[in-house]
Amino acid sequence: MNNSAHQVVVLGSTGSIGVNALEVIAASAGRLQLVGLSGHSRLDLLIEQAQQHRPRWIAASDPDLASQQDWKQLPGECQLLTGQEGIQQMASDPEVETVLVAIVGSAGLMGTWSALESGKRVALANKESLVMAGGPVTELAARQGGSIVPVDSEHSAIFQALEGQQRSELQRIILTASGGPFREWTAEQLEQVSVEDALAHPTWQMGPKITVDSATMMNKAFEIIEARWLFDIPEDQIDVLIHPQSLVHSMVEFQDGSLLAQLSPPDMKLPIQYALSYPHRWDGPAERMDLSRAWQLEFSPPDPERFPALELGREVARSGGTSGAVLNAANESVVAEFLGGRLRFNEIVPACRAVLEHHDFESHPSLERLVELDRWAREEITKWNCR
Ligand code: NAD
Ligand code: MG
Repeated sequence: MNNSAHQVVVLGSTGSIGVNALEVIAASAGRLQLVGLSGHSRLDLLIEQAQQHRPRWIAASDPDLASQQDWKQLPGECQLLTGQEGIQQMASDPEVETVLVAIVGSAGLMGTWSALESGKRVALANKESLVMAGGPVTELAARQGGSIVPVDSEHSAIFQALEGQQRSELQRIILTASGGPFREWTAEQLEQVSVEDALAHPTWQMGPKITVDSATMMNKAFEIIEARWLFDIPEDQIDVLIHPQSLVHSMVEFQDGSLLAQLSPPDMKLPIQYALSYPHRWDGPAERMDLSRAWQLEFSPPDPERFPALELGREVARSGGTSGAVLNAANESVVAEFLGGRLRFNEIVPACRAVLEHHDFESHPSLERLVELDRWAREEITKWNCR
């Protein structure tokens, strides 16, 4: 074991980002050492990962599933933890330096919170942490001396483009969006979207929830909110451009009109690696641009009529307070309804808007209040569905 290796915990290791992260860590030539993993379901995969990577701990975050699992194949030296406490124990261990939060949805917030409370670096894939609680989370990081390095490809691009620049000279940031599978669908076609259509993303391989968010463009709405908190920039300095090739991962414009962009193929291994290697760079497993072939880059403005989620995201980025937690929970619950065949695709955004407009806004909520509202918004969606 390499004593100078940087100790990393991966929360949500059985998901799309988690699996890519394990590949990045395995290819780091001993620079990174994987010491902890967590998974919620697919516990056989979690055991397989433990056999392959030999971490100190694994955490099975669903205690019921954990109690039904046969753990005989778990390596003897690997300690089994369960539930939220297991995640907290790994995320706050004094020897751990970086916690990659790759859990999907609001369940990721507690891992982000524990790691930042202990002053760690959080490599943040779980954008929902910032959508729900951007104010409290960024304040916590500042207070405890922790930091957040984005894994989301757009925010990684912006983070990289801002390195070494004067923040006061920044004019705006431009988030690129693939446009998802329905970029060219008419409003009439959008009435007829099936679950299968929504899960067929043209450029990115991701978990089901974020794939549906990309189809509604709620994912981009969340990324506007994420950028607002991560870079402490007002919403009116954040633009969105449709870029179907997903090669330019975002751009930053400075006061002199210069645009800096970051380019690479659509492969999450690169932003994952950068969040773990920062401020260094090294050779890794991510795919590279093949510049010997003819290629093109296209950009166009998004259509706010067909993709009303974008305006909703802007409103939430402007109002802050309790809005993000309500939007996030409403969306999570409504997407689950859509995936379960109980609600239509074009009802997702109106349902989120209705719940958001119906809530008692507070500008400086506590974390407890946000968690309470998360529950409330989910209950409201159940009512919406029965109307
Ligand atoms: P996924 O569905 O493939 O994996 C989710 C992981 O979270 C799994 O390990 C699962 O076991 C765990 N999990 C699920 N519910 C949980 C719960 N209640 N408690 C604890 N753990 C739980 O999702 P993904 O596509 O890997 O996305 C993970 C996060 O990264 C999301 O927040 C997503 O928005 C973000 N992200 C993903 C991509 C991508 O390319 N996949 C890109 C940018 C950002
Ligand atoms: Mg993204």
